[in-house]
Amino acid sequence: MATMQAVSPVDGRVLGDFPVSEVAAIQQQMRAARSAAQIWAKWPVAERAKILAKLVPLLMAELDSICELISLTTGKVRTEALLGEIYPVLDLARYYQKHAANILSYRGIPTSPFAFPGATAGIERRPFGVVAVISPWNYPFQLSVGPMLTALFAGNAVILKPSELSLPVGQLIVDLFKQLDLPPGLVQWLVGDGETGAQLIDASPDLVFFTGGLNSGKAVMQRAAEHPIPVLLELGGKDPMLVFNDAQLQRAADAALYGAFCNSGQVCVSVERLYVQQDCHDQFLKLLQNGVAQLQVGHGGQGDLGAMTTERQIAIVEAHYQDAIAQGAQASGPLERQGNHLKPVVLWNVHHVMRVMREESFGPLLPVMAFADEAEAIRLANDSEFGLNASVWSQDIQKAERVAGQLEVGNWAINDVIKNIGHPGLPFGGVKKSGFGRYHGAEGLRSFTYPVAGMTSRS
Ligand code: NAD
Repeated sequence: MATMQAVSPVDGRVLGDFPVSEVAAIQQQMRAARSAAQIWAKWPVAERAKILAKLVPLLMAELDSICELISLTTGKVRTEALLGEIYPVLDLARYYQKHAANILSYRGIPTSPFAFPGATAGIERRPFGVVAVISPWNYPFQLSVGPMLTALFAGNAVILKPSELSLPVGQLIVDLFKQLDLPPGLVQWLVGDGETGAQLIDASPDLVFFTGGLNSGKAVMQRAAEHPIPVLLELGGKDPMLVFNDAQLQRAADAALYGAFCNSGQVCVSVERLYVQQDCHDQFLKLLQNGVAQLQVGHGGQGDLGAMTTERQIAIVEAHYQDAIAQGAQASGPLERQGNHLKPVVLWNVHHVMRVMREESFGPLLPVMAFADEAEAIRLANDSEFGLNASVWSQDIQKAERVAGQLEVGNWAINDVIKNIGHPGLPFGGVKKSGFGRYHGAEGLRSFTYPVAGMTSRS
């Protein structure tokens, strides 16, 4: 039987060997999941919520060891493991514990007195059945457990296919769910790469929730079309941050550095493009240069930036940096590498032909460009094939809302970056090539169910 070895990007230590799932076993898992889903779907939402809520104290009791394992597996610093991986899951679990029953309840709708006199009508929500959750390596805990919990609250069974680059976290997740005494087969996982992911789709789950890169997303959609199965895609981003001259500049500069370099830039909603109004551009750049010089590249899970998770991603970041420099960009310093750690770099004199302004870098590069006015800021921000998150910085909230309302994105924040996506009540997802799934909030929970329309005539 083939195995996959997990090796830490922090120090190269071996974290475990995992047997790769085979096709026959995947089909067997699908049958078990289907039986479990039938039992689980009959439970009242409040009962599901009661049992899933037990995850919260389990996580709280193991915070240190979970953060340590996430940090070793991905390279991220431990504070980011806590803030970016565990806290959003705790918030989401609490949110659905409180609101899931209401969100999923039967909704009566008004009926026409002409065509349907005396009739009542309404919409019932039913779980799909078995949800395949295919997740990436950059937030292997949050981006697995978040959709898993949502699927489970909605009444589905789940088969998780975590990234082949974060298998120890996949193992940890299923071990946590095992402690909840769920019906056997309700939560299972698979080990393997994209090929195993494709085999999971071929086993015909009832919904695929995929988070990952654009090309993999296209392949997933094509594969799902063979069966056909509905898919929800959460893909990459090239998120803009717009800073107007009436913003609190120091706060905005601190946020830009956090938004660009948190998790070494390996965040789908990283600040990947920074646009600053012309008349404060130079002043703002100085704040960024001062700030970036103070950031600590961390070792052993400490500091501001951790290790890059993959060699492939380091190569992409280096290529974007070199392309920008070759085309005349200036940099706060060289892109120094120490082991798997990259020193963060601010770039300016950049333009939209450069790869660093068009493609997802997913690394510690922050390109900065000037804009003249509102119209140009909006045009530049929307000049991207992606449309995930964006932020607008101004003390004039009316103006900021006017600008945000014209951005082609699934989410925006005013005077904040990144953190908005962790809000459990706000549906998170993208437009354009950033995908079309939604999770979190009422829309997110409902998207793991399908509507059944009912009408009752009494006459
Ligand atoms: P990836 O696309 O390489 O892999 C994601 C998952 O898909 C992995 O589990 C992988 O094994 C699986 N996979 C790959 N090809 C497949 C196929 N043909 N069929 C089925 N499964 C397949 O992505 P990654 O490198 O792990 O993650 C980084 C990407 O994810 C970035 O582009 C990032 O922006 C994106 N991302 C998006 C969000 C979001 O919510 N929008 C969040 C995090 C990351």
